[in-house]
Amino acid sequence: MIDLRSDTVTRPTREMREAMAAAEVGDDVYGEDPSVNELEERAAALAGKEAALFVTSGTQGNQAAVLTHMRQGEEIIMDDRAHVFLYEGGATAAFAGVQSRTLSSEKGQMLLSDLSGAIRSQDVHFPDTGLIWLENTHNKSGGSVLPPDYVKEVGLLAERAGIPLHIDGARIFNASIAAGVPVAELARHASTIQFCLSKGLGAPVGSILAGDRSFIERARKWRKRLGGGLRQAGVLAAPALLALKNGFDFIADDHEHAGILAEAISSMEGLNVMNQVETNMILMDTFETGLTSEDWVAEMKRQGVLAVPFGPFTVRLTTHRDISRTEISQAIERIMKSLQQLKG
Ligand SMILES: *Cc1c(COP(=O)(O)O)cnc(C)c1O
Repeated sequence: MIDLRSDTVTRPTREMREAMAAAEVGDDVYGEDPSVNELEERAAALAGKEAALFVTSGTQGNQAAVLTHMRQGEEIIMDDRAHVFLYEGGATAAFAGVQSRTLSSEKGQMLLSDLSGAIRSQDVHFPDTGLIWLENTHNKSGGSVLPPDYVKEVGLLAERAGIPLHIDGARIFNASIAAGVPVAELARHASTIQFCLSKGLGAPVGSILAGDRSFIERARKWRKRLGGGLRQAGVLAAPALLALKNGFDFIADDHEHAGILAEAISSMEGLNVMNQVETNMILMDTFETGLTSEDWVAEMKRQGVLAVPFGPFTVRLTTHRDISRTEISQAIERIMKSLQQLKG
């Protein structure tokens, strides 16, 4: 099987498993796990922030951020296809008791005029705007990169309004490689950033929430409340640390692979690529074949390629660390075969 469902499906490398076996550990709830402490220090430096917190997942990192930044009854401004809005089980409402103000966007970029107009003024009727939210890369539009200047503009707007900006940077490493800009630079204009260790980097578990020291100390308490205070978590931090230490240039291969796959797909009769492939995702449009994304995903699975439906006629394919150039060629053949089966 060639698994292109997500970049979360990577298995830890042998080197990572060795690092897990050899990891120095302690009780992280007491702050005594040397591997977690080292990971948090490195991650903070990478993000250009004072401090960082190792959390169990991207969702936990995002939710800890919302809980730390906001109070009940406040409002977050985000784009209407943000992961936190679509795919986190309504957690912001369930846990933080905040409401979402969603704006339409072009590839995750809300108009600055819309953003500025959505910030609430002081009025007894209104919720207070407590947080502005960006997602980089933007998952639902197929891994698009937010232009660094756009992030800066939003950051300046937020700063002028006295509202914190959070970046959901689940795939910030992809954004960094594609834009050729360091992660710290992409995070510079945000108060906080969350990024996943278990996606592009290929680590088995975890995410990072980074921000200033006092913020991270308060977030640490929310992590505990959310059940994310782990004990000998160094076994999980060690493989992630390895990924951070060794660098993540290999992500460029994932992007190249996605480009090759996208080009092949768009040359196939009836199939189109909907997104401009900037990172590791392809949104395949099946509409002209007259068959739904569900039909396509089922047939591709029979041919040995796994992908996910991403809309009635949209299939998402995601390249990642465990996919070789050879497997990309095989995937192309198998998608061609699926087309023959479905149309033949
Ligand atoms: C994957 C993802 C998350 C959540 O991460 P999990 O580790 O799956 O909880 C959050 N935001 C975006 C944009 C994502 O792609």
